[in-house]
Amino acid sequence: MKHAEILLTGIVQGVGFRPFVKRTALHHGIKGYVENREFGVKIVAQASKKSIEEFVKDVLNNAPAVSTILTHSIKYLESELPDFKTFEIAPSKKKGEISALIPPDIATCDKCAQEIIDKDDRHFSYPFTNCTNCGPRFSIIRSIPYDRKNTTMKKFIMCDDCNREYTTVADRRYHAQPNACPKCGPELQLIEVVDENPVVTERRERAFDKTVSFLQQGEIVAIKGIGGYHLVCNALNKEVIEKLRKLKYRPQKPFALMARDIDIIKEYCAINDSEKEMLEGQQKPIVLLGKKKYALENVAPGVKDLGFMLPYTPLQYLLFKHFRLLVFTSGNISEEALENKDDSAFRNLSRITQYYLSYNREIFNRIDDSIVTYAGDQRILIRKARGFVPKPINIKKGIDKPQIFAAGADMKGSFGLTKENIFLGSQYLGDLVFNSNTEFYRESLSYFQSIFEMKPEVVIADSHPNYFSTQFAKEFAEEKELPVHYIQHHKAHIYSVMAENDLENVLGVSFDGTGYGDDGNIWGGEFFIIKSIDCERFAHLNYLPMVSGERAAKEPWRMALIYLFKYFPDAIDTIIPTATFPQRDMILHQLLNDSVQLQTSSMGRFFDAVASLIDVCHYNSYEGEAAMKLEAFADENFSEYYNINFDKQQSLIEVALIIRGIVNDILDDRSKKYISSKFHFTIARMVFDLCKKMKKESGIDSVALSGGVFQNVVLVNMIKRVFYGSDFKLFWNEKVPPNDAGIALGQVYSFLLKSR
Ligand code: ZN
Ligand code: ZN
Ligand code: FE
Repeated sequence: MKHAEILLTGIVQGVGFRPFVKRTALHHGIKGYVENREFGVKIVAQASKKSIEEFVKDVLNNAPAVSTILTHSIKYLESELPDFKTFEIAPSKKKGEISALIPPDIATCDKCAQEIIDKDDRHFSYPFTNCTNCGPRFSIIRSIPYDRKNTTMKKFIMCDDCNREYTTVADRRYHAQPNACPKCGPELQLIEVVDENPVVTERRERAFDKTVSFLQQGEIVAIKGIGGYHLVCNALNKEVIEKLRKLKYRPQKPFALMARDIDIIKEYCAINDSEKEMLEGQQKPIVLLGKKKYALENVAPGVKDLGFMLPYTPLQYLLFKHFRLLVFTSGNISEEALENKDDSAFRNLSRITQYYLSYNREIFNRIDDSIVTYAGDQRILIRKARGFVPKPINIKKGIDKPQIFAAGADMKGSFGLTKENIFLGSQYLGDLVFNSNTEFYRESLSYFQSIFEMKPEVVIADSHPNYFSTQFAKEFAEEKELPVHYIQHHKAHIYSVMAENDLENVLGVSFDGTGYGDDGNIWGGEFFIIKSIDCERFAHLNYLPMVSGERAAKEPWRMALIYLFKYFPDAIDTIIPTATFPQRDMILHQLLNDSVQLQTSSMGRFFDAVASLIDVCHYNSYEGEAAMKLEAFADENFSEYYNINFDKQQSLIEVALIIRGIVNDILDDRSKKYISSKFHFTIARMVFDLCKKMKKESGIDSVALSGGVFQNVVLVNMIKRVFYGSDFKLFWNEKVPPNDAGIALGQVYSFLLKSR
């Protein structure tokens, strides 16, 4: 007979892990106990060595799907322990430093979904049904260890039936912390806000029924979900969608959709196997799916995809007994922070709706729906939030290093914290030019620090002097007397890919809309040769004067004009006539006088310019609009291209021939589809050509590609096609978004390489 101590770290709490261990132990005839500890799970097992080994193997191989085991260890104990008579789950203890991780929110499982439509089940029609395998987690946890008393379920005292489930080892709800039923759990409330006065008008089933009829009548209803409010309306009612666009200040930006089942989605979109798996999995993000021609054009005007998700809460399942398809967009105004608290929602969303379907359980940590897209079977995270946060990323280089706070970047706010080999990235926090989002940033940071007991010893920020995140990092460091390091934006993009793949030497291709360059210009079309911490800017798109600064990013026609002025002035009158663009001459005047100081090498702005040149989009009403609409015209199998010039002396990529080629194609009446496809393929070839040059110089053949431009699936697929069969190895972001929300991981990694 032996005694062994088995320690497991990772996401092993709140995912039915202890009951699973107990069942497994009983199966193998193991005596002893399992307990939640600050670092994860500790098991003391008493049996023959052989049984213990088989038991551990079983635990590692068959752990619950939601769990993530990061490390495990077995130690056979020498000292005599008392003989255990049974295998028990010991009460939780909190000792020392906390490093146990908590699970993300999990979509309703099949069994729970069945019970709520089973008239004989006591969970019938109950919108807060959950079990050990599903339900809210991250959004309701106040502190760890993950026990009911440390969640926003604390105030609901379990009834006898629920308590029996909760305490019965064989039950699916054994130690399911948010366990609840109609007798004892949270309840629905319909609130109507009239003249700023919120009044609860209905409760429970009647609140639900009334919501259904409001939606059927073409109203917009704000519905409180897992991580925050949604604004919900009929997706087939054009008037209500127009109304929502107007009131939410979102004239063009696509709305997310929720469908009853995958067959309904198939009516509108083509779905491959990876997409299907993601749609139906336990994370249930919004998946961007190529839409069939003209499907739901007013929901997602001019872009190639529709964003679909399937129901992931019992309430949503119940709603979809009455609907096939609904708009389910974030409960916020424009790009402001997601609403999760009733009073704030009533205040801020009142211009959109007076109807709120809420419930009396607090969302402690708000978190938006995640957005995922696919290039073939390559996953691209567009927005990392519910279902994906707070999953840890393992970075080996973090072991024995100080704890880090990485502040991220501003356009898509997301910070990161490290402790040893664990990187935890925050949820998507929105554009940090908005005060509501900077508040969200502070709120989430203090939550992450307290729940994971993180005490950063080093601070890292973007080198942009005017970013909120940079300013915040500085103040944070000053207050705590910590050192602060800065890293250039586009380098950090590449380091994020290196972090995911544990790489040291790469060729970096960093394409995005904007970022502060080492020379004070706006970078965004950058090629780097990276050897660990040495980062050489090998080439970049030729600089253009960025007349009218930020406005040029919002109004692609300004970029088109700047490009024409430089490379094809004769075409200006034809393509950008004063009659349509009255401010044109003012900009030309500035260009002629050479009075513009700010230069840009941004690839994002290049896409904007081309979108405007071929009359696809002249004004961005949301970030990335012109590029997305340009992408919608591109055929990824296309293989013609424009030529480029590379000025080796000055490391410049000269795009004169591209612009001249495009203008000539416009004058030749070539289609938008032709020009857009040709332009996309030109960029793919440019990447390949430059990588060949960089390889020749450095001998490196690993290529890391990052930055918001690589959310463009057509471009990603073309690049893969061009590189196919070459000696290069391509690396992309899969665990963090390629956009600015992935920057924090890159910031961390560049520091870790430096501090060896
Ligand atoms: Zn369940
Ligand atoms: Zn109950
Ligand atoms: Fe960026």
